[in-house]
Amino acid sequence: MSQTNTPQRRQTLPVTVGSVTIGGGAPIVVQSMTNTDTADIDATVRQVAELARAGSEMVRLTVNHESAARAVPAIREALEAQGCHVPLVGDFHFNGHRLLTDYPECALALAKYRINPGNVGKGEKKDSQFATMIELACRYDRPVRIGVNWGSLDQEVVARMMDENARASQPKDSDQIMYEAMVESAIGSAERAVQLGLPKDHIILSCKMSGVQDLIRVYRMLAARGDYALHLGLTEAGMGSKGIVASTAALAVLLQEGIGDTIRVSLTPEPGESRTREVVVAQEILQSMGFRSFAPMVTACPGCGRTTSDTFQHLAKDIQGYLREQMPEWRTRYPGIETMQVAVMGCVVNGPGESKHANIGISLPGSGERPAAPVYVDGEKVATLKGEGIAEQFKRMVDEYIESRYGRGTGA
Ligand code: SF4
Repeated sequence: MSQTNTPQRRQTLPVTVGSVTIGGGAPIVVQSMTNTDTADIDATVRQVAELARAGSEMVRLTVNHESAARAVPAIREALEAQGCHVPLVGDFHFNGHRLLTDYPECALALAKYRINPGNVGKGEKKDSQFATMIELACRYDRPVRIGVNWGSLDQEVVARMMDENARASQPKDSDQIMYEAMVESAIGSAERAVQLGLPKDHIILSCKMSGVQDLIRVYRMLAARGDYALHLGLTEAGMGSKGIVASTAALAVLLQEGIGDTIRVSLTPEPGESRTREVVVAQEILQSMGFRSFAPMVTACPGCGRTTSDTFQHLAKDIQGYLREQMPEWRTRYPGIETMQVAVMGCVVNGPGESKHANIGISLPGSGERPAAPVYVDGEKVATLKGEGIAEQFKRMVDEYIESRYGRGTGA
């Protein structure tokens, strides 16, 4: 199937975040967030580098207290020393105005500041603390994400809108008022930032919610309110398949409507699981929908009663894992490899057809079939593998194909 028919993206202002552009028609950016204590410089550097290596194009870290703010310049420096230039985003709540004021080197080491208007302060302090952060963003020429979150929505905005609704002749339902309060908090804060001198192309907006239908509704409303670049993400998506499915369902609908310039998949890692899974899932959403290519894709059949053994499952898993692991080096060594398609199929029913459509594909013998596995390269049958070592033989053929097709100097 062709994946070139991607939907028209919504027109947004381009925002420069370090070496990355968000919005303005730029490719949709994948980002992630650390879960280390930012003050633990070694652990944070390790995790940022791991996320960047997995393909995260920006990494956010919490800057929640003075020791975290002090650590940020050292984290930046250590990353640079190992050749990792991924832009760092500072996540600020409650005391961001003070930390950015007191630690200018932290402010400079960050490529973007995330401000949650619901957690900036209360009453008069809210306005002055918000203004301080925006003035510092202007001074250091840094973009800002105004990130509204369902769980920390500005209660003053909610109360005002609920009161107005109660006085209306035809009151709306409370969910609708909540959506409008989320959007109002984001747009109102953005307008205030512009009044304070921050250019519109230094502002990214988000309105994160944890319910799929809620998120879709609120982002449609947000997208209709202007041309700010938008950060998409389902907040508190959850763990394992639940988190992946919910995030994918929400993001896919919005991306299909052209909404979203950067995405994060907020997965709760399983105990001991790498944080990088959220990066892989975000990439797979964009790649499956045809927006971008990050790593070769393996097409594999689900298997059925015709499958004679689990060889093809192991082979599909091995090949997929192998291709992804090599990508950090292969990205530069084999330009274009991220668009490669590999097929690993369980029998001849659909095997040869899928294999012919892939760059390289194998169809393993199904039940009652000859113990032979035809291999197709660029649509042509080039070999029939037999015997015990079919999996190893096929992996070698994949390596040879990559070298000949994507190796430098081949003109491929
Ligand atoms: S390709 Fe063969 S083994 Fe795989 S699901 Fe289809 S019929 Fe079953």
